[in-house]
Amino acid sequence: MTAPAGAAGGARGGGPLAGAGPLIDAHAHFYHPRSPRGDWAEVNAARLRAGERIGITYHVASILGSWGASSPVYFPSPADVTAGNDAMYAICEREWRRVRAYVTVNPNHTAHAVAEIARGAARGAVGVKLAASRRADDPLLDPVCEAAARHGFPVLHHVWQHRTREWPSQEISDGADLAALARRHPGVTFILAHIGGGGDYMHTFPAIADAPNVVVDVSGSGVDRGMLDEAVLRLGVERILWGSDVTMETGLAKLMGFEAIRLAAERMALIRAGNALRIFPAGSFPEAATAAAGAAR
Ligand SMILES: [Zn+2]
Repeated sequence: MTAPAGAAGGARGGGPLAGAGPLIDAHAHFYHPRSPRGDWAEVNAARLRAGERIGITYHVASILGSWGASSPVYFPSPADVTAGNDAMYAICEREWRRVRAYVTVNPNHTAHAVAEIARGAARGAVGVKLAASRRADDPLLDPVCEAAARHGFPVLHHVWQHRTREWPSQEISDGADLAALARRHPGVTFILAHIGGGGDYMHTFPAIADAPNVVVDVSGSGVDRGMLDEAVLRLGVERILWGSDVTMETGLAKLMGFEAIRLAAERMALIRAGNALRIFPAGSFPEAATAAAGAAR
């Protein structure tokens, strides 16, 4: 019998809902005045407030252009990409203790995308966010991945799992496509977004099993019984990152789910923060690194 992770234990003591220990949300988003939400500021504040209550040490977040206001969410114009990234860096600088940025890029505008990655690195970004602007195995993604490699950035890719037909405004792409890209770029870690966020995760797990530089984040609103067990069984805990995307309550539910399947505390610590500390550039999360080192002593 292994020791339970104790995710819900903290709540009973009035501490963070997710229990003690560093917790990195590898898939977060913020909004800005040029996005369609009139309540953008309140939503941003709510994320930080909920993060405090849950016990999130760092939100690693992106802004997808104008979120559809002036160009499509997944095909943002260069001007919207730049404006969204600027808004993200401004949040990061204001909330440096707990927020980190992904550079969002649209690979259809290759030169702009590569320049944005360099600019993001200079502004303190820690990863690249690829919207579904192109199928994941498309050669257009290669220069973007090479730029990510130069900066040691992981690449978070929005994937719809095993989509069998085209949908408007989003390129078809799944785990098999991302695995093909990952094989071409063995020095880059790819984060397959939100296994709880749409489609067939039971297609995803075997599709990426032999691509060790693909990890998954557990974000999304899906909290199916069995999803987490299968992820642990088929990928191993070293290839799972915690994240919430836009539904933070289901992010918390997944931590409780790992507790329910009695994942040992030291394995849970990898999903909560240890894997992110390994995958993102060194020094990205000083508070989590200090806490993790303290716990290991
Ligand atoms: Zn997302």
